[in-house]
Parts: sequence; C-alpha cells; structure tokens
Amino acid sequence: MIPFEYRRANTVADAVAAVSAHPHAVYLAGGTNLVDHMKLGVSSPTLLVDVADLPLSEITELPDGGLRIGAGVYNSDLGAHPLVRNRFPALSRALLSGASGQLRNLATTGGNLLQRTRCVYFQDITTPCNKREPGSGCAAIGGYVRYHAILGASEHCAAVHPSDMAVAMSALDARVVVASTDGENRIPMVDFHRLPGDRPELDTALTHGQLITAVELPAPPVGARSTYRKVRDRASYAFALVSVAAELVCDDEMISAARIALSGVAHKPWRARAAESALIGSPATEDAFIAAAEAELAQATPLAGNEFKVDLARRTLVATLRSLAQPAATEQERRWH
Ligand code: SF4
Repeated sequence: MIPFEYRRANTVADAVAAVSAHPHAVYLAGGTNLVDHMKLGVSSPTLLVDVADLPLSEITELPDGGLRIGAGVYNSDLGAHPLVRNRFPALSRALLSGASGQLRNLATTGGNLLQRTRCVYFQDITTPCNKREPGSGCAAIGGYVRYHAILGASEHCAAVHPSDMAVAMSALDARVVVASTDGENRIPMVDFHRLPGDRPELDTALTHGQLITAVELPAPPVGARSTYRKVRDRASYAFALVSVAAELVCDDEMISAARIALSGVAHKPWRARAAESALIGSPATEDAFIAAAEAELAQATPLAGNEFKVDLARRTLVATLRSLAQPAATEQERRWH
C-alpha cells in the first residue's frame, strides 16, 4: 500500500490550485482507469484531488446548434442524451460501444479523454515500457502486438489510444475546454492527443495542473450523416481492434464533405485526412470508398504480428462509408435538419 492524500475540491479554481501546487497530484473523477493503475503500481500519485462534486455535469445547447458537454457528464448519460443521439449519432454509438454498462455509469467525459493505453506491457510493471518508465525500453517490440499501432508509431512506443468516444469527437472537430492557473483555453481535439515520438510518456497536450472542464461540439453540417463502427474480438466489453467514426454530406450522390477518424490503429485518434481528401468531390460509390481507404492505409507501417490490421482497417472504413451512403438509414444514422 502506497500512502496518498485525498482532498475533495469545491470549485474549479480550488482544484486547479491544489494540483498545480503539488508535482505528484492528479485529478480523480470516476476513477475507472486511475484506481486500476494505482492498484497495479503503474501510477503512484501522492495527492488525489476529487473533482466529482464540481458543477461540470451539464449538457447545454450552443447557439449554433452545437453542444457543450461538461467534463463530469457520465458516458452513459452522454450516449443516451436525445440531442447527442439526434445530432451526433457517431458519438452516441461510440460511447455505447465502449466498456461495460457499469463502467459507462461511472466514467466521465474528461476522464475518458485521459484514459491510458491498455498495452499489456504498460500495465505489467515487471516489463520494460517507455511510457510507464521513460528510457526503459519497449517490451511490445518483438512481443504481443495484436492491439498495437499501424499508423504513427515510433521506435519508442507503438501503443494505441483506447477511447471510442475520443475518436468520434475527433471526427466531429470537438474542442477541449481546459482550465489552468492562467485561465481558460480551448484545444482542438485533433491536437489534444499526441503521437509517441521520443516522449511516449506524454499522452496529451495538457500540462501539469490543467483541468478539462468541458468538450464543445460544433453543429454538424446541414444534411450530414454520421456513424461509428467498431470491430473487436468479442461483442461487448472489449477494446477496438479497429473502429471508424465517419460523417458524410452528399449532394446528388456526390460527396461534398467528409470527416473520418480511426481508433485502434494509433497512439491518438487518427484523423483520416488522406481519405477525406480523396472522398470530397467524388461520387458516393464503392470504388470511391475503396480508393479513399487505400489512400489512408498507404501510410501504414504494421509491426510483425499485426499486419492483419491494415486490411481490417481498410475494410472497416469501406463498410462504414457504404453504410452512410445507403439510403435506408437507421434511426441512429438519420439526417439532421
Ligand atoms: Fe510501453 Fe508503448 Fe512499448 Fe507498450 S508499446 S510497452 S506502452 S512503450
């Protein structure tokens, strides 16, 4: 048992001040990932600042039709919210495909963004891991890599980000609202998570003491349809081998806008810019979807042992785009407006 101090924050300013003043302090929200890491010895904070009572549990509509989601909103509440289901079906589907019902009832929006990789070596303190202990090496290289990256990895780390929610938010151009001792700022979701490079211990752009207070979603384009498709080893309570969040706008069967992000393939939600560029201005056809997937996966560099994920990602992306282009949309994929 490693002793730690616990404090309950009453205001955002109190919380930020407490963590900022203490180099080994962390925020505690739902605790669904942090507490596991403390039990495993992966993380040993000496001060926990509980933010569960802060007034960050509201979902409010923005004037442009977007949403502001408090960092304390539970994943289950967000996934089931009528405005999320209606305007952002990709986000609703992503949330409801993540973890288990019990975990979704406790995991928060802010905590979901900060959850750490489920690389088995990261969670096993008897093995070398540059993310857990910088400079110690990477046990995954030459090891078990079924769940590891095929895009954007480095020689120092090939872990993937585990969140489903963050992938949908990346595709939807969300912004993360952050409080610090310097005030409030916004970080685009596409810049919030990092690729590993030579600093795999850093998962996000946050600095010590910064607290996520909300996520803002801009309104979807008129006529947009979005969805989320997840491929995993079992039907529930499993992380993605590959998943795709995608939104298309089609005019007269031509694609006028496309936003796509992939999960299970990189250290961060992977925004598929090459696929988006290939799709915009193309007809919504199977050939165009295949060409877009080929364009995106051309940059894949799989490890020995996870080569299958390149074709899996290609096929999953094509299937997702095909489902959006089909006229018989499901209730969760129907047009907004
Ligand atoms: Fe650690 Fe990353 Fe290597 Fe996994 S892939 S062992 S998280 S350095």
